[in-house]
Amino acid sequence: MKNPELIQKLENTIENIPDFPKPGIQFKDITPIFLNPKLYEDVIADLVSFSRGKVDAVCGIESRGYLFGIAVAVALEVPFILIRKAGKLPPPFISEKYELEYGSAEIEMRTGQIKPGQRILIHDDLLATGGTTEAAAKLVEKQGAEVAQFSFLIGLKELQGEERLKQFNADVHTILEY
Ligand code: AMP
Repeated sequence: MKNPELIQKLENTIENIPDFPKPGIQFKDITPIFLNPKLYEDVIADLVSFSRGKVDAVCGIESRGYLFGIAVAVALEVPFILIRKAGKLPPPFISEKYELEYGSAEIEMRTGQIKPGQRILIHDDLLATGGTTEAAAKLVEKQGAEVAQFSFLIGLKELQGEERLKQFNADVHTILEY
């Protein structure tokens, strides 16, 4: 599944910004990918080949999960559902709170957009601790759907987010890891 050529191109493109937004955080800036349409296409092709034939819908996490997730869903010809930060969606919706390093956060999803029994891909740009993605998986399961896969451009290995996702499904794809 690993694509060494794509990994190399992404390593050369994604910018590491030390101590942003807080001291100690190595922020991975993916925005230079959008300056290179061919590279964007290659990222989508990689994500699509991981999920083809395996999912009935894609859920993307606000906001960078939308940038790739919608293109993946369109290529797979399946619906795309937005998972948003609290306070932005009109009702009806369901919510899930989760803990951050300091304090807590909440994400939401419109009800009725995913159907019971559907196989769902949860997608975001980056997997860090896995807290956000775990909350997203709970939203999916609360609606009677199955978390079938997770995909990310980047995984921050030492934070072990993948371990946290295995309770839902071990089919986790990260294009590259730091
Ligand atoms: P987590 O819930 O810890 O897995 O954090 C994942 C979310 O936070 C994703 O939506 C990422 O976009 C964002 N994020 C966390 N750490 C970083 C980082 N080092 N660089 C860029 N984005 C990050």
